[in-house]
Amino acid sequence: MKITFLGTGTSHGVPMINCSCEVCSSSLPEDKRLRTSLWIQSAAKSILIDTSPDLRQQALRYGIDKIDAIFYTHEHADHVNGIDEIRPFFRNSNTAISIYWHQRVKLEVSKRFSYIFSANPYPGMPQINDTVLSDFQNFQLDELLITALPIRHGNLDIFGYKINEMVYITDASGISEETLAKIKGCEILILNALRNQSHFTHLSLIQALEYVEKISPKKAFFIHMSHEIGLHEKVNQTLPLHVQLAYDGLNFEI
Ligand SMILES: [Zn+2]
Ligand SMILES: [Zn+2]
Ligand SMILES: [Zn+2]
Repeated sequence: MKITFLGTGTSHGVPMINCSCEVCSSSLPEDKRLRTSLWIQSAAKSILIDTSPDLRQQALRYGIDKIDAIFYTHEHADHVNGIDEIRPFFRNSNTAISIYWHQRVKLEVSKRFSYIFSANPYPGMPQINDTVLSDFQNFQLDELLITALPIRHGNLDIFGYKINEMVYITDASGISEETLAKIKGCEILILNALRNQSHFTHLSLIQALEYVEKISPKKAFFIHMSHEIGLHEKVNQTLPLHVQLAYDGLNFEI
């Protein structure tokens, strides 16, 4: 499968509105971060993890031409609010998109975007088939074996996903021993690292590095960075060789 980082920024995005710090003023593309989301292309399927508020821009920039499935991590605006942007994907296809999520996320998103989920949606609305997942539930999409991983995000229980040998965890503030046991030694770990200072609902860079050590993946990429993380290149030089900050547009085959 091929993965593309559609966005690697925290909820504000980088640059942040109304900030003139050295990161927000940087002209380097690696220092510009849209809101966090991942695009997975398997042999036959095109899959998003979350629909960021920047989905329109991300789809145009990276040439996303279809979406078969969306895996939601949680209901925060920076992970959900692009759901309205999936309408154009129904122009050439009348196939419903499969959505996978937590029961609470389903309730919250269908309340916020009731026009998409109403019993009689008006023409042009996305068609959705949804599946509610429970902790550690496995499901198969063609050659992909996916597991929903319970993750702590402040006071909220959210999902990370294990997709074959890749693990995607965003917005974690903590990872339980039970989840750690499922992901130890994975090939690729994608994990959030907000900034240097600690934060109630997000791992700091040091905490993220501690989890990398515990999980010991072959390679780790950090996501969901704030402008407070510092300049991309400078931070990357301080990280172990198998760990790096991801950047928007980074892509590779697994
Ligand atoms: Zn977030
Ligand atoms: Zn700034
Ligand atoms: Zn969040």
